[in-house]
Amino acid sequence: MKYLLVLVVVVAGLWLLLRKRHPPAARPATRPDKKAPPSLAAMVACAHCDLRLPQAEALPDANGRLYCSEAHRLAGPR
Ligand SMILES: [Zn+2]
Repeated sequence: MKYLLVLVVVVAGLWLLLRKRHPPAARPATRPDKKAPPSLAAMVACAHCDLRLPQAEALPDANGRLYCSEAHRLAGPR
């Protein structure tokens, strides 16, 4: 009976050691957050073709009109 108690203590000690090395909190790696909502960047319309594009990608001309591409900037407003 004494040996059974020793065995239980040893097994419990080993179990605790193993648990420390491999914590059960090893959840699946944190998933990346749900896809971030598209940024609400200001959208502008091309002065030539009326295509909507983010303001950061628009090409302004000398008069401040915005265009979707260099070709439309050169073609000018419709
Ligand atoms: Zn355009």
